[in-house]
Amino acid sequence: MTSKPDGWMKSTRGRLNMVLAGVSAVAMLVSGSVFHAALSQDAHEDVRREAVLQMATAQAVRAYTSEHVRDALLQHDGPFPPAAVPSFSAVTTMKYLQQAYPDYRYQELAINPTQPDNRARGWELQVIEAFRAGGAEERFLTTGSGAAQMLHYARPLRVVNEACLRCHGSPEAAPAALVAKYGRQGGFGWRVGEVVGAQIVSVPARTAFARVDSTFLHYLGASAALFLSFFAVLNWMLSRTVLQPIVSSNQRLAKLASRDGLTGAANRRRFLAQLDGEIRRCGTQGAPLSVIMIDLDHFKRINDEHGHAVGDEVLRSCCRRVKRRLGPSDVLGRLGGEEFAVLLPATDESGAGQMAALLLLAISGKPMQQAGQVTASLGVARHRAGETGAQLLERADAALYRAKREGRNRVVRAAPLIPVVPGACVAG
Ligand code: GH3
Ligand code: MG
Ligand code: MG
Repeated sequence: MTSKPDGWMKSTRGRLNMVLAGVSAVAMLVSGSVFHAALSQDAHEDVRREAVLQMATAQAVRAYTSEHVRDALLQHDGPFPPAAVPSFSAVTTMKYLQQAYPDYRYQELAINPTQPDNRARGWELQVIEAFRAGGAEERFLTTGSGAAQMLHYARPLRVVNEACLRCHGSPEAAPAALVAKYGRQGGFGWRVGEVVGAQIVSVPARTAFARVDSTFLHYLGASAALFLSFFAVLNWMLSRTVLQPIVSSNQRLAKLASRDGLTGAANRRRFLAQLDGEIRRCGTQGAPLSVIMIDLDHFKRINDEHGHAVGDEVLRSCCRRVKRRLGPSDVLGRLGGEEFAVLLPATDESGAGQMAALLLLAISGKPMQQAGQVTASLGVARHRAGETGAQLLERADAALYRAKREGRNRVVRAAPLIPVVPGACVAG
């Protein structure tokens, strides 16, 4: 009785856990991907903000040089002072910054630069061409992947006024010191309004994305812990409040449905089911199987003389006495009224006859408290190959009625013949 409910509880809990695990996995997958996308978006924004801030810093240095340094320096004779050029100031200042943050970079590249080192090539040249073609005034792009991924922020370098052409119009108009320092090859022929190059800030995406990974791992760990605790609590609550009460009430119901309320013996339905089960089992194992039918003698008289309550007590007492003699695998059933049957697995006719004699002695050997001596008639039959439970009981019943006919208080065995004495067996 206990293994079946245990199995039911385990399989019910197992199925529920499977469903919960599936739902949790899908929930974690969906929430995880939404969270990861949000984190990545934030990381992108952070990196962009860094790039924009650096670009603003470079612009500020350029503006300062144009407004406060360039003219002052160019008034003096002597070698050309590069510090007078906004581009030079911005690049140099940002190089100092780069000493503290080596992964960051700031460049000013041109198609036709004064300094050959500043000539744009590859994707930088394409960015400048895109600016020259018109459209956006800023561009973001990434290069590399994984730990080497860099975000680049580019803005066009445009010749905004005539003042720029002082150094970039023609070699003839340019300060002599400039021509003397950089030669006549590059950086001339620029026109007002023309995009001649680009400022490019490069920022590593690595740090921001490492932060994404670590935050995401924390999130996964926390949600897994949450789901596990949820599982544990749910399982505990499920067992305590749902499954165990169901199992207990099922056990109670099964007991009620299979036991006789008065005597505690198996009821007719349960006894017949067990008989059929044992017939199948003994059939496969080739083991013998016998039944004993018991009917109390003149029981109606007991009721009539002592009352129904005493009759009930006699029925209970007979059952107690019978049960005490039975083995652990033997089954006592109440088939109705004062009629009982005993199922004896692995017992042949001789063993069953001896057991029937013992049972008769147990019932009749000692007087009952109020009813005095109670006797019974018993019919014994051994199962024959191919016989159904009902047929077996029918033969045992026939033997029992022969015992009644022959004077009661005796055992009759279906076959073969055995002596007839109170407490001994006869065959019918
Ligand atoms: P016989 O020796 O031929 O078996 O006679 P009997 O009186 O035992 O048999 P009969 O079938 O005439 O009477 C059986 C009686 O058992 C009738 C019925 O009232 C009584 N009985 C059936 N069930 C119960 C019960 O649960 N409690 C009590 N007290 N009596 C019951
Ligand atoms: Mg009777
Ligand atoms: Mg009867």
